[in-house]
Amino acid sequence: MPKTAKSRCVIVAGAQWGDEGKGKVVDLLARHFDWIARYQGGHNAGHTVIIGGRKHILQLIPCGILGGEARAVIGNGVVIDPAALVQEMDGLAAAGIELEGRLFVSNRAQVILPYHRMLELAAENAPGRVKIGTTSRGIGPSYEDKMGRRGLRVVDLYEPELLRTHIENALREKNAVAGALYQAQPLDAGSIYESYLEYSRRIGPYVADTAALLNRAWRAGEAILLEGAQGTLLDIDHGTYPFVTSSSTTAGGGCTGTGLGPTRISGVIGVSKAYATRVGGGPFPTELEGPVADQLRERGNEFGSVTGRPRRVGWIDLPLLRYAVRLNGMESLVITKLDVLDGLAEIPVCVDYRLDGQPLADEIPATVAGLEKLEPVYAKLTGWQASTAGLKRLEDLPRAARAYLDFVASRLELEISLISTGPERNETIWAPHSRLESWLGMERAEQTARS
Ligand code: GDP
Repeated sequence: MPKTAKSRCVIVAGAQWGDEGKGKVVDLLARHFDWIARYQGGHNAGHTVIIGGRKHILQLIPCGILGGEARAVIGNGVVIDPAALVQEMDGLAAAGIELEGRLFVSNRAQVILPYHRMLELAAENAPGRVKIGTTSRGIGPSYEDKMGRRGLRVVDLYEPELLRTHIENALREKNAVAGALYQAQPLDAGSIYESYLEYSRRIGPYVADTAALLNRAWRAGEAILLEGAQGTLLDIDHGTYPFVTSSSTTAGGGCTGTGLGPTRISGVIGVSKAYATRVGGGPFPTELEGPVADQLRERGNEFGSVTGRPRRVGWIDLPLLRYAVRLNGMESLVITKLDVLDGLAEIPVCVDYRLDGQPLADEIPATVAGLEKLEPVYAKLTGWQASTAGLKRLEDLPRAARAYLDFVASRLELEISLISTGPERNETIWAPHSRLESWLGMERAEQTARS
């Protein structure tokens, strides 16, 4: 592993509505890091990584576990469904991936309980509720309990009396609410207690004070990658509220969700597709419908990796990307799925918005109604009508594809450091001498070899 003596900590965050291909990017970068840590979200994330033709879907465990020697951390900002975690651990073990000494689960992470799922399902289907399109896995209600200071944390699983009392007390309230409001069947405290005791035994060997571990690693000169789930526009504060997720997906969440302070962060990398997608409801200014949308959806295999739901698709949206760059302080951008645009004669790129007939300054409306009124202004770029699938060198890209990337980079005033041209690790183009390469600790010789 190429290493410098200097400690490094890099955040990889989604610049759109999630599903940008962060799984592949983190997997690709993992060999340059000693530690990969998830900082928010739960098992609604679903990174898909294809290695040697084999598909791995990881929902909780950072996908860095699949390659190389990096150690994987589930940070304190994550909410953990122990049933999902144990299932994922079993899946990795069956694939021959060693977890002992490589997986660390924060003792301060919140635990999802069956009543969180019950409440989410019931509430989402209740009349009059805004349908956010959640995955109904209890993630939102678990974050509610965290903020309400009535959550259960991983460390509490190891205090049997506390665990039992917590479940009994919580169920008294949750069963009453779910029964009265949604006519849900009550859940039984005893059986939940038994199953959670069993999960605690399985997870026990991996539980640690991960903030202490990561800070120790940083002081020892090791390299840490913080892996975001979902994307900027789903951030609880900055996203298209209320059509958002329940956590801080943006780079700041990387600090609170792991316990590494802001002064430890070396850089923030954004990941965006060469177009845009969104799952579930909510504003999507550049959304596209009709045959071209179907073509992009099919070519990009835009169906949710957790739910199988078809994703909404649209053109790349530079005003929203600029918003993401600003909120995260992104200094380097990865563009994924360039190959999905192969074959189009013309590619519209949203360069600005108009609102009520007037050009919009760089502020994005805070309301759904405001976002829905935006009229995208498109620049029409020439397509390349040639295959970029699997290309590995910048100079092999068709001229129009390079022009497309240069246009995006110059409008965002940001380097594009990596271009992904296929799902496999090696189907990637590295732009030479990028900031990213210096954050990876790559030596000059290695950088030159890449270019
Ligand atoms: P994530 O949650 O951000 O990791 O995104 P997903 O895993 O939901 O979606 C990414 C999907 O796109 C996966 O099926 C990847 O294998 C695939 N993928 C990633 N990069 C590329 C690429 O450059 N080209 C193509 N065609 N597929 C890609």
